[in-house]
Amino acid sequence: MSEREHEKKQRRRGRLFVLAGPSGVGKGTLRMRVLSDIDGLVYSISCTTRAPRDGEREGTDYRFISKQEFEDREKRGLFLEHAAVHGNFYGTLREDVERELAAGRDVLLEIDVQGAQQIRGLLPESVLIFVSPPSIAVLEERLRRRETESEEQIALRLANAKREMECIPAYDHVVLNDTLERASEDLRGIIASYRR
Ligand code: 5GP
Repeated sequence: MSEREHEKKQRRRGRLFVLAGPSGVGKGTLRMRVLSDIDGLVYSISCTTRAPRDGEREGTDYRFISKQEFEDREKRGLFLEHAAVHGNFYGTLREDVERELAAGRDVLLEIDVQGAQQIRGLLPESVLIFVSPPSIAVLEERLRRRETESEEQIALRLANAKREMECIPAYDHVVLNDTLERASEDLRGIIASYRR
């Protein structure tokens, strides 16, 4: 790399990519796929008040914190965005994202549609990507297969999903998650198109 190219690279601020969409649509799997394939793209680990599911690890999947700690961080303005989703609180730490963007790294958030809307208002140059299920019926089937939610939770997540799908026009891109292979290829292509 020439000195000039090196300098340009050093000055470049990273870009924020926001992956949003209904719970159970496969955002997590897609996110993991593209993260391992794209250099210089980092994931911002969210804070949540929900209890860890089997196999989830502190500091890798989420930062699991108490409701009181969440409220405290919210009052101190530490969250770039935050939302109540299906009865729990979720938030992205401002400092984490700022540090990575300032260092020139692109950051990927995997959040709900309320959070994505907040990001749109705060950082209009960010790229909003909606991950859509082929249908609500397919989403229901996936949520059931996951066996991590109660019937009540599934009903709540489906009702929210219907509302979330109405937000699609506000997004820069839609990735239809029919097959994982095709959807991750699409997502990779979208991200790559901003990084040329
Ligand atoms: P889950 O409990 O299934 O891990 O996540 C529930 C929903 O919360 C998902 O749609 C997930 O993308 C969203 N979520 C996870 N982290 C955040 C966050 O930091 N902010 C917001 N607004 N939503 C989040």
